[in-house]
Amino acid sequence: MTHSIEPAKTGRAKCRGCNRPIAKDELRFGERVTNVFGDGETTLWFHLRCAAFKRPETFLEALAGRNDIRDAPELAAAADEGIRHRRLPRLHGAERAPTGRARCRACRQPIARGTWRLPLVYFEEYRFEPSGFVHAGCARDYFGTADLIERVHYFNPELTEQDLRELAEACGSRVA
Ligand SMILES: [Zn+2]
Ligand SMILES: [Zn+2]
Repeated sequence: MTHSIEPAKTGRAKCRGCNRPIAKDELRFGERVTNVFGDGETTLWFHLRCAAFKRPETFLEALAGRNDIRDAPELAAAADEGIRHRRLPRLHGAERAPTGRARCRACRQPIARGTWRLPLVYFEEYRFEPSGFVHAGCARDYFGTADLIERVHYFNPELTEQDLRELAEACGSRVA
């Protein structure tokens, strides 16, 4: 199985990492996997940045030796970060809790309504499934790092500067 990085032939495929379309001719990462039914292989497509954040091991295999890719060092650094902190690829943005019903997967305590929480996803059967939340304040315990504002902003581009400042404070992160 060889993973690849190549320009998208059409604009129809959606990225497995963020569910947004991948533009025609944009470079995309293709992860080769065994078909669910065990008869052959299929390819999962990702934006390069989504792949670096969420599929770091296979992405780095495809990136190796590719000196033609703009941002390659930055993408490799993001992937390395996700290997060093093995839970970091589960991070899928941030939000203010709409209810007080969820419990934090790190400390098991409820997450108060209106406070910042970090949604998690697990990669299972070739897709990312929502799998709970952690308190912003539990980020360091859970992920092993609180340096995650850039990732959050990538997955939730609608967050404002003010939101990101509040979030960084709640996570105890250094502010960019
Ligand atoms: Zn994506
Ligand atoms: Zn917690």
